[in-house]
Amino acid sequence: MRIAILADIHSNLEALNAVLADAREQGTVDEIWCLGDTVGYGPDPTACLDTVLGMDHVLVAGNHDLASVGKISLADFNPYAAEACRWTTTQLSSDHSEHLSELPLRTEQAPFTLVHGSPRDPVWEYVISPNVAQACFDHFTTPYCLVGHSHIPFIYRQGQRGAELIDIPIGRPVPLGRERLIVNPGGVGQPRDGDPRASYIIYHTEENSMEFRRVAYDLTTTQKKIRLAGLPEYLAERLQHGR
Ligand code: ZN
Repeated sequence: MRIAILADIHSNLEALNAVLADAREQGTVDEIWCLGDTVGYGPDPTACLDTVLGMDHVLVAGNHDLASVGKISLADFNPYAAEACRWTTTQLSSDHSEHLSELPLRTEQAPFTLVHGSPRDPVWEYVISPNVAQACFDHFTTPYCLVGHSHIPFIYRQGQRGAELIDIPIGRPVPLGRERLIVNPGGVGQPRDGDPRASYIIYHTEENSMEFRRVAYDLTTTQKKIRLAGLPEYLAERLQHGR
């Protein structure tokens, strides 16, 4: 089987469609796994949700998903994120809201645990340093854990002397071995590693390997939609910088 692993779609339909088209160009996509924040920031929350829900999917909740349906407070959001969440709430149908409200914070799909933030704190924690990654290895029991939230692709392996980053080859499968790993596919709808292209992973179950991919998409259209919706200009601007 081939599984597309996506995180932080953030209501960016152009990026989501480009990623799915790219994945299908490589072969059949049997399932899609989304690591939360399907909505928030961007202009197409319902279309993105419908696209994901229309495929064989596994979905966990992110902080923006939860805030959009009132399950967590906006107090800890930056002003742009909070404004976009309030707008997202006005766009969701009751079906969409119900679906987002019922998403789990974590789920297991052997050999992976799936969460949005970290296995220690699925809603808020960013895995952004070797120390955090090392502590997080104690909070899941599967060989590997998939996280999103930082919008930055990475692989941490559990080494002898603590967690270590592994270099990620783009467009070439990385075989997963016996070492325990925490993996972030990067952000689909709002990449933040300085590369504006959408980031995601294709996981090959038979080979137990994953391929990180980057896909250019029509971000000018997304920016136009953000402005038309009256969302903060900064959210349009940042897409072209990948920050
Ligand atoms: Zn996010």
